[in-house]
This record gives sequence, C-alpha cells and structure tokens, in this order.
Amino acid sequence: MSHLPIYLDHHATTPLDARVLDAMMPYLTDRFGNAASRNHVFGWQAEEAVELARAEVAMLIGADKKEIIFTSGATESINLALKGVAEAYVSKGNHIITNAAEHRCVLDTCNHLKKLGFDITILSVRKDGTVDPDDVRKAITDKTILISIMMANNEIGSINPIQKIGEVAREKNIFFHSDIVQAAGKISVDVNDLNLDLASISAHKFHGPKGVGALFVRQKNPRIKPIAQMDGGGHEKEMRSGTLNVPGIVGLGKAAFLCKSEFDSDFWHDFNLRNKLYETIVKQLDQFHLNGAEIDSADMIKKFNSAEEASKHIRRLPNNLNISFEQTKSESIMIAMKEVAMSSGSACTSALPEPSHVLRAVGISDELAKGSLRFGIGRTNTPEEIDYVGRRLVEVVKKLRSESLHVHSS
Ligand SMILES: *Cc1c(COP(=O)(O)O)cnc(C)c1O
Repeated sequence: MSHLPIYLDHHATTPLDARVLDAMMPYLTDRFGNAASRNHVFGWQAEEAVELARAEVAMLIGADKKEIIFTSGATESINLALKGVAEAYVSKGNHIITNAAEHRCVLDTCNHLKKLGFDITILSVRKDGTVDPDDVRKAITDKTILISIMMANNEIGSINPIQKIGEVAREKNIFFHSDIVQAAGKISVDVNDLNLDLASISAHKFHGPKGVGALFVRQKNPRIKPIAQMDGGGHEKEMRSGTLNVPGIVGLGKAAFLCKSEFDSDFWHDFNLRNKLYETIVKQLDQFHLNGAEIDSADMIKKFNSAEEASKHIRRLPNNLNISFEQTKSESIMIAMKEVAMSSGSACTSALPEPSHVLRAVGISDELAKGSLRFGIGRTNTPEEIDYVGRRLVEVVKKLRSESLHVHSS
C-alpha cells in the first residue's frame, strides 16, 4: 500500500532530507554564533561551517569556493546577477538577451531593467522549449552585456544547449548567466565546461531548506563584480550584505554534498520512475500530448557508462513529465486525485485559469494547456507510488472523458 498523500510536485519544492536537518540542527541551537564575529569561538564555529558549505556548493557545480555568494534563494540570486551586472557594466552597453520560457523571476527582473532603460531581447524557443544557439548569436549587438538562459525548464523539463550558448557568449566577450535551479543535482553541471559566468541555485529544490540559495560569480577569466543589490556590512565580498543564515547555509551545503555523492542513484531512480509513469500513460491512454522535449529512452542512454555522462546527453530532466490530456481539464483531474500532489500548466490563482507562459512559448493551444499536468519526481518517491498514480490517472481520465461525452450527448 502506498502512503497517501503522494508528493509529485518536486519542481515546486522538495522535502528536507533528514540528513540535512541533522546537519543544520546544531546551528539552530548551541552553535548560534554570527559568522562575522571574529573575536570568539561562537563566531569561529559558525564561520567554519559556512566555509565548509561554500566548498560543498562549489563542488556540486565545479566552481571554486571563492566564487560562491550566499543569498536567500534563487530569486535573489537572479536579481543580483541581472541587476548587479546591468548596473556594473552599463558603461559597456545596455542590451540583455533572454528567452520566453524563463522562470518569472528572470522575466520580471528583465522587465524591471527595461523600465530603467535597458534594451531586452526575449528570444522565442523551439517546439521542445529550448533556445537555438544561433538565435542567441544573431541577437547579439555591440551593446550586449549579458545573456541569461536557464539550463533546465521548471515546467517542461527541457534542457538547453548551455555549453554551445556559452561558447557564443565567450567568443563575443559577453557575460553569461544561467538559472540552474532545476538542473543542479539532477544533471551534470560544470561551470567551466559550460562556459558559465554566473549561475543561480536554490536549496529547497534539492532537498535543502527554503529561503537559502547561492549565486556563482566567476572570479577569473573573466572576473565579474556585480553591484550589490543589498547594502550593509559588506558581507559576501561586498556583493550581498546581511548576517549570514548559518543554519540555512549549512543545510544548502549538506544538500549539495548529498546530490553530488548520490548523483548516480538519484539520477536512475528519477529516470526510471518517470519513464514508468510515462509508459503507463502511453499504454493505457490515448489523445494526450507530451509537452516539451522527447522522453529519453533507457536504451538510448544505456550506452553511457555513468549517470553523469548520460545526463549530458538527455534532452529532458530525468524527473520531469508534462502532459496535456485532450478533452479533460487538469483542474478536474487534480480534484478527482486530491491524494496526489501535482501541478497544472494553468495558474488557477485567478478566476479564469491562464495558460502558463511556458506552454504558450512552445505553442501549445490554450485548450490543451488547460489539460496539462506536470509531474515532478523526487528522491523519496517509490515504484509503488508511481504504480498507484498511473492506475488512478488512467481511471480518472477515462471517467472524466466518458462523463463529458454524456453531457454533450444529452
Ligand atoms: C523555484 C525556481 C526559482 C526560484 O527559486 P527560489 O529559491 O524559490 O526563489 C527560479 N528558477 C527556477 C527555474 C525555479 O524552479
């Protein structure tokens, strides 16, 4: 029997790993020192823990620990990267390139910069949700100072050709930022291989605590200095002032360490469960549409000798599935399956559900978007849970479709 409710919304947030909580606990209790206190053991203990976490985060993404700036999460990291670079390098130019499938925090930050007089190019994406590196190249002008393209999409899981886009940026001497929130811990990320200059991560997306994240800021070839968006005591190399969230940072570090050391098992776990769910849908339902990139087959990636290597060749995050069911509304499916946490591609925050900007960007009709469901698999999901969800989904979609037939024919 599966333990209900079942959580399949890991792109929104993930449960805190028990080992992460254990690592944090001393810093929520006895070791409460301020990491900036230089005169006593409480401060030294806190500082030592922060520096260990910095090394752990750096290790996850192939960076140097000097290149990690702690923040309150990816939204803040992204604001610092984009606004901080825009402000610091405006004398070189005022043009920024991004794309239509980015997370709101990138698009809204760009919108803010636009109001301040920056020129923003929002590239359209291909049908699979990815950005064409040639489009990036063509969009570059002599005023371009920054390119921001996410590594993996949080709704449809598409993985962008970051290395190629990075090559274009490097060749033209333009800074390159990537929102790697959904990629970190799920697919191989090496800031040097990928030619990244700035990258944003968030602890709660990989089994760490909420309210803590980091910004990678390249320190050599080239050295970058975004202007702080939070002024104060000059913490974090004067890029982000404010007393450090020591327990949160310790949790971020531990979560990053676990992702690195358990990369293989996490990768295959998520990949196999996602493919199992997809196979159930393919076998037992018709009239559905896969949103985003193709589902990579186990056969295709078997030839790579490690999960790390395989993850460089897949087109879609191993834990993501996004499907639109024709003649059904995702809202109705979710109401009928309240015991399963998933999310839909239309925001139900307003009275009228609005299709997500990502589904619009990949050209899904509003009608299909209303039937879209996003499944995000994570470390603690079990095969039994996936069996249960598959079974219920088939049952519910069939039932809803037959009911709507009756309504139409009566
Ligand atoms: C969750 C998420 C963010 C925001 O991260 P927070 O730490 O919650 O601010 C940004 N980008 C992507 C792709 C995300 O999934």
